[in-house]
Amino acid sequence: MEKQVVDGLREVFQSGRSRPLQYRKQQHRALHRLITERQADIEQALKQDLNRNTYNTSLFELISIENDIKLVESNMADWAAPRPVKKNLNSALDDVYIKPEPLGADNWNLELPLGHDPAAPSNAAVLKPSELSEHSARLMKELLPLYLDKEMYQVVTGGVLETQELLRQRFDHIFYTGSSTVGKLVMEAAARHLTPVTLELGGKSPCYVDKNCDIAVACRRITWGKFANCGQTCIAPDYILCEPSIQDRIVEEIQKTLLEFYQKDPKSSPDYCRIINTRHFDRVLALMNKCTIALGGESDRSQCYIAPTVLKDVLPHFKIMQEEIFGPLLPIVTVNGLSEAIHFINAREKPLALYVFSSDKTVIKRMLTETSSGGVTVNDVLMHYTVDTLPFGGVGNSGMGRYHGRHTFDQLSHHLRCLRQCSPLEFSVFPEYLEPAASGELV
Ligand code: NAD
Repeated sequence: MEKQVVDGLREVFQSGRSRPLQYRKQQHRALHRLITERQADIEQALKQDLNRNTYNTSLFELISIENDIKLVESNMADWAAPRPVKKNLNSALDDVYIKPEPLGADNWNLELPLGHDPAAPSNAAVLKPSELSEHSARLMKELLPLYLDKEMYQVVTGGVLETQELLRQRFDHIFYTGSSTVGKLVMEAAARHLTPVTLELGGKSPCYVDKNCDIAVACRRITWGKFANCGQTCIAPDYILCEPSIQDRIVEEIQKTLLEFYQKDPKSSPDYCRIINTRHFDRVLALMNKCTIALGGESDRSQCYIAPTVLKDVLPHFKIMQEEIFGPLLPIVTVNGLSEAIHFINAREKPLALYVFSSDKTVIKRMLTETSSGGVTVNDVLMHYTVDTLPFGGVGNSGMGRYHGRHTFDQLSHHLRCLRQCSPLEFSVFPEYLEPAASGELV
């Protein structure tokens, strides 16, 4: 079944249907119509999956898709155009350029998907939404064929078995979003066909709060980034590192912000989400084992509710420090200053994101130059993700490849290397190949 899907997509791709820019424009407009006309259905699905409110659905999903569509519409022709490169003496008279080409059949897995990234080139794609966000997955399966070209973009739903079956197929590229553990299985399967992969994984993203910073502002920003989506964001600050002298102040400021954001009872706040399912609810709750609860800690399995929770004096060997939390628990680990914080970060897998709050330029510089991570935001959290000119992605265990805006286009293109010989020498030997390009136009 999956083989037929992929073979069908490849056939349509090879017909060249998706190559003209006009076709891409039609598909973008169709995607735009989908998110506009079916906004209420999308909001409803995310409400059912995560108890997410409409404001956050717009903020986290719809606005960014709309912005991507606008960005792509004004730039696609430029991105897809041949890119002349600097020439050497031998090629001085020739046309030498890079021509971005779509790769072919692409496999996308998305955690809360609404569609293929608009910035992707003209690849055909199998979209495999996560079975965990079941309402969004069902909606995507229903809506995409109504709006997009269903012979070019196919939605396959299902869980582990269906994903494994898909991974046995030969793709020209696999774009995977999920945990590092499954990322390794994806890469192993891709290796059988030498299929290139983009792995958007996760990990424990540290947040260093220096004693020289505006702690109230830092905590307000951390509280937003940590507890949005109930902590289920790949770049949520996973844990705080700080000196013991400011730990209680941090707890106090987070408490104030939690009151402001979710009032006294986050469970009845329309702005507070739920854990995606009971399996993850049990997993997150078990991470609190041995920890000292400074704030929160309440839970209700029947609603997959876990209160925004801060844990203090957490020790590095605790279970919570061994895996990505992906939930609303915020451990604080105390360290004696910057050098120890840097050592702590470097002793672990390279994170997807790193946050540093400080008003001291030396601290910021040392953190940036002495650690390695997918991306950094200084004096805030998550915000580097929102800039589409910055490539987004991990390093080491947190992933490989990059996406967003033009970076998505380039990541999912083959960069064909072209040299068109234009020299008149040996004209009599191979005349048909040596005609100069008409008015310098690159093909
Ligand atoms: P997951 O890796 O547990 O599951 C993702 C998908 O993999 C599932 O939908 C499932 O169908 C499939 N899968 C699971 N086990 C499999 C197996 N043995 N063989 C083949 N397929 C299998 O991840 P999740 O729970 O969906 O998402 C959470 C993770 O994703 C976190 O680590 C988070 O940081 C990461 N994430 C990363 C980004 C990013 O852009 N870097 C974005 C969102 C989430």
